[in-house]
Amino acid sequence: MDAPDWKEYFKLMKESAPLVIHYPICGGGEECIYVCPFGDEIWEVVPMKVSLFGVKYRVRLRPFMKNPNACRKCYICVQACPTGALRPVDKPVKHPTVVLIYNTLKLPFKKKYGIKFVFRDEHAEKFRKNNSPDVYSSGGGDYGKRD
Ligand code: SF4
Repeated sequence: MDAPDWKEYFKLMKESAPLVIHYPICGGGEECIYVCPFGDEIWEVVPMKVSLFGVKYRVRLRPFMKNPNACRKCYICVQACPTGALRPVDKPVKHPTVVLIYNTLKLPFKKKYGIKFVFRDEHAEKFRKNNSPDVYSSGGGDYGKRD
């Protein structure tokens, strides 16, 4: 499966959306899409070349705002992001490793969207699928490139 580099999607969101995702620290569990009241309208998952927390740079599926104009800027998705990868566009991730460690350590103490939420079956399934898209797209699923 071929796909653009994650920086292309980062740039697209930076130019058009109220949020950005620092994809190298996004786990791909789709917690953001799950909690967004308009998830189907706003989000999709797309293939991109990215590492997972610094491990193996290869094609994975990650959330992307296909319809940023529908976003109400409630930032529920930002609260639900377990790694800190998803940020308001004016407050992007500057130190990815620090953000990842900080958010991981914070997870057990979060009242909402804590460990129980992140390890729900549906997120574990998305994590597996989005980090091994070739395994799950047997039959040549159409993850198509963006124009
Ligand atoms: S800020 Fe609110 S409306 Fe916008 S994508 Fe996140 S959860 Fe959805």
